[in-house]
Amino acid sequence: MTEATDYIAAVRVKIEQRDPNQPEFQEAVSNFFKTITPVFEKHPEYIKANILARITEPDRAIQFQVPWVDDAGNMQVNRGFRVQFNSAIGPYKGGLRLHPSVNLSIVKFLGFEQIFKNSLTGLPIGGGKGGSDFNPKGKSDNEIMRFCQSFMLELHRHIGLDLDVPAGDIGVGGREIGYLYGMYKRLHGAERGILTGKGLSYGGSLARTEATGYGLLYYTNAMLKENGQELAGKRIVISGAGNVAIYATQKAEEYGAKVLTASDSNGYVYDEAGIDFELLKQIKEVERARISEYANRKAGATYHEGSVWDADIKYDVALPCATQNEINGEQAAKLRANGAIAIAEGANMPSTPDAIADYQANGILYGPAKAANAGGVAVSALEMGQNSRRASDSFETVDGELKDIMETLFANSVAAAKEYGVEGDYLAGANIAGFTKVADAMTAQGW
Ligand code: GLU
Repeated sequence: MTEATDYIAAVRVKIEQRDPNQPEFQEAVSNFFKTITPVFEKHPEYIKANILARITEPDRAIQFQVPWVDDAGNMQVNRGFRVQFNSAIGPYKGGLRLHPSVNLSIVKFLGFEQIFKNSLTGLPIGGGKGGSDFNPKGKSDNEIMRFCQSFMLELHRHIGLDLDVPAGDIGVGGREIGYLYGMYKRLHGAERGILTGKGLSYGGSLARTEATGYGLLYYTNAMLKENGQELAGKRIVISGAGNVAIYATQKAEEYGAKVLTASDSNGYVYDEAGIDFELLKQIKEVERARISEYANRKAGATYHEGSVWDADIKYDVALPCATQNEINGEQAAKLRANGAIAIAEGANMPSTPDAIADYQANGILYGPAKAANAGGVAVSALEMGQNSRRASDSFETVDGELKDIMETLFANSVAAAKEYGVEGDYLAGANIAGFTKVADAMTAQGW
């Protein structure tokens, strides 16, 4: 035992005792703590400044009521959250998630991950997250609008251009950001940088919609290249059928890889000819239908109930783009048996600790979420920059910056892992690179 390991263990116990009923938050913290010892061995000043205790406790966690009127004229009530986790390097930044599973534990795990993800982008943004247990599935457009308006009627008093800038996440896309922005504007005027992921007609950035999916592939490409591999010719399994999965599919196919699957919470479609990006986009973005519809319209494609990670499909690269803990230890072993050599995470924390241990014990190339899916928030920060400049950059400019950011972020993770004696561990590299910048900023700003 060293001073560093004692310190880390003591903080860990305190967090467990304080919030025993927050399993997702505890999981994210534990994954992080497993990799961070070398930093505290090298920087005892971080122990003195108690950085770990400070960085694991949100600056503030706001919970509020969201009342809204459904189409039948009845009053409904949901719970809203905004967790402002850490602003050492810039205003709190992170999405809003609308999903029935949302609770304080989920929002805190997402906000905690966001601190390091945002730091890794190299852009001046702190970490935050929010959302509600509202279920958008089956709701009419008007119900979504009334919910978003009510949500913003409370949220507006907690956010600001240099304070906290929300965006989308699961269940929040361009439509919802539009309704949220419309209400904010009535309260405060046209402060366009207050939200990101906006429509192009009112201050959104080109390439923001594509950014997480494209960024995931720029990252995966860099990781494969580092290991003497390439994307061209690879067979890829993607889970999810949201914004991340859709544009990951498009970019993977541009690289000459073949994407075999797409999924939702009920099941997955398998298309040996390669997922037709235009059809996927039509079904999910335009019609907002279930993924099973893809198999009805595409000859040769089949629909299967259950998780795509239980399927017997031969493939090389796994890109989980659905949700947290979608791959467990057994499924990680299955993925290897299916032939996968690499996994990069489009969703936030899609692998359980057992799954991560399985990849690492078996030499699977593992690109962790906070690095691999940082493209979305990176372009959000570029959108904030365009709003401040009152400019709108071309698709090529933004996409080019995104590619640079993802390649630099991968290179920085590789370098950090090497510097701290854990070469080739991209999870440790991402945690260390993301963390040290925030810890330096916290230290510089005094006690
Ligand atoms: N929700 C996305 C994420 O997990 C994007 C957040 C943002 O653009 O602020 O990083």
